[in-house]
Amino acid sequence: MASTDQDRWSRVKGRLRAEVGDDVYSSWFARMDLEAIEDDTVRLSVPTRFLKSWIQSHYAEKVLACWQAEEPKILRVELTVRSAVLRTAVVKPKAPDLADHRDGNAARLGNGDSRNMLIGDAGGHEALGGSPLDPRLTFESFVVGRSNTLAHAAAKQVVAAKRGDPVMFNPLYIHAGVGLGKTHLLQATTWAGNAVGERKVLYLTAEKFMYGFVSALRTQTALAFKEALRGIGVLVIDDLQFLQGKSTQAEFCHTLNALIDAGRQVVIASDRPPSDLESLDDRVRSRLAGGLVVEMGSLGEELRFEILKSRVMAARAHHPGFDVPLPVLTYIAKTVTHNGRDLEGALNRLLAHNKLTGHPVTLEMAEREVRDLIRPQEPKRVKIEDIQRVVARQYNVSRSDLLSSRRTANVVRPRQVAMYLAKTLTLRSLPEIGRRFGGRDHTTVLHAVRKIEGLVGNDNVLAEEIEILKRQLQD
Ligand code: ADP
Ligand code: MG
Repeated sequence: MASTDQDRWSRVKGRLRAEVGDDVYSSWFARMDLEAIEDDTVRLSVPTRFLKSWIQSHYAEKVLACWQAEEPKILRVELTVRSAVLRTAVVKPKAPDLADHRDGNAARLGNGDSRNMLIGDAGGHEALGGSPLDPRLTFESFVVGRSNTLAHAAAKQVVAAKRGDPVMFNPLYIHAGVGLGKTHLLQATTWAGNAVGERKVLYLTAEKFMYGFVSALRTQTALAFKEALRGIGVLVIDDLQFLQGKSTQAEFCHTLNALIDAGRQVVIASDRPPSDLESLDDRVRSRLAGGLVVEMGSLGEELRFEILKSRVMAARAHHPGFDVPLPVLTYIAKTVTHNGRDLEGALNRLLAHNKLTGHPVTLEMAEREVRDLIRPQEPKRVKIEDIQRVVARQYNVSRSDLLSSRRTANVVRPRQVAMYLAKTLTLRSLPEIGRRFGGRDHTTVLHAVRKIEGLVGNDNVLAEEIEILKRQLQD
C-alpha cells in the first residue's frame, strides 16, 4: 500500500482521536488498521467481531466524517474482522503478493493480525467454550525484563499452584497499555496451566465472556451454574475494559464472587487499573482491587532488544538465510519505542523485504523500512495534566490556581500559556481543553491560544519560555 495512504490514515486517526478523546480512542480505535483505499471506499479492519459491531453501531458516521474531512471523494467505509480479511486475501488471486507475504510472515514471525488463523488448542480448551489460543504465546517466548518481572512471577505462581492450595492473591489483575504483553502473558499462563493439568485453565476474552459464557449461564439453573464452575480451576479474562452493560456486569460480579469464594483463581488483564474502569460499579471495582494489582510498564530499550533478538531466532528456524546484524537490532530497539506490536511489524518489514528482494538486511534498509512504518504513528502523547504541572512549576503558581477562576495577572498569563500548549501539543479539542481547565468555555480557550500566538511574535522572553516548556514536555 502506498505510504501516502498510510499518511492519510494517520491523519484520519489524529482527527478521530481529537473528536472522541484519548480514552475512547484507545478503547475502540487503537487496533483499527487500514487495509486498502479503493475508489470511493476505504477498507478498515479490526481484530474482533465485537469491536467491529461496536464501532459500526456507535462510530460509523464519525469514522466516515473523519475520512471525508481528509479525502472528500470517500463515500463508504467498510469494516472487516482481520482474520477474515486475511483469508479472503489468500484465496483472491488478484493479490498474490499480499497474500503470500502476509501469510508467510504471520505463520513464522508472529504477525498479531493472523492470530485467529493459527489456532491451537490446549486439551480441549475451545470445546470448553474458551477463546482461541495462539501457540506462539508461551512462557518460552515471553522475555522478562524490569517492566514485567512482577507480572511474570505472579503468572508463574498461578501455574505452579495446586488444586486445594490456599490462593495467594485473588484476583490477579494485570494492567498495561496496548501491545505491552498482556495477552501474551495470559495465554502463556493458560498453555502452561493446562499442560500441568492440575487445574483446568479457561481463557476468555471479555467479548467471549459476554457473548458465550454469560449467555450459556443464563440458560442454566443456579445449580447447573455451580456445577459448570466446579470444572474451572483458573478463569482468565482478557481485555476486561471491553466488558459492557449492566446485566453482563452483574453476571461477571456473580461469577467472580462464586469463583473466588470457592477458592478458584481468577486472572484478569485490562488496559487500565480497576479504579479507572468507569463503567463498572463500585462493588466490582473493589473486588478487583482486592487481589494483586500489577502494572506492566512500557518495554524498556533493553527489553525491546531482547524481544527482537528472540524473534529473529524464531524466524531463522523457518528462514535460515534471514540475518539481522546487531547494529540493526540496536537501531530498531532504540527507535521503535511504541510497543510489542510495532517491534513485530518492524521485523516483519525486514523479513518481507529480504524475502521479496533477496537483498540482505542492512542498517540503511532498516532505516528506510522502519521510518516508513513508524513515522505516521501518533507522536509522543503529551498529557494535559503534565502541561499544567510543568507550567505551574515554571511560573511558580499552583495547579489549582490554573484551574481556578482567579483573574490576577500572575495567574492569567500562565493559564493562557498552558491552554496554548494544550492546543498545540495535544489533539484535544477546544471544548475538551476548556473542560480540563476548570470547566471553561471553548471561546476562552480560543482567546488564550490567539493571545499567546500574537505575543510570541514580539516577545522574545515569552517565546523562549514556551520553547523551554515544550522541550520539557516532549522529551
Ligand atoms: P497486549 O495484549 O498487552 O496488547 P500482546 O500480548 O498482544 O499485547 O503483545 C503484543 C506483541 O508484543 C505480541 O507479539 C507479543 O508477543 C509481543 N510482546 C510483548 N511483550 C513481550 C515480551 N515480554 N516478550 C516477548 N514478546 C512480547
Ligand atoms: Mg491483548
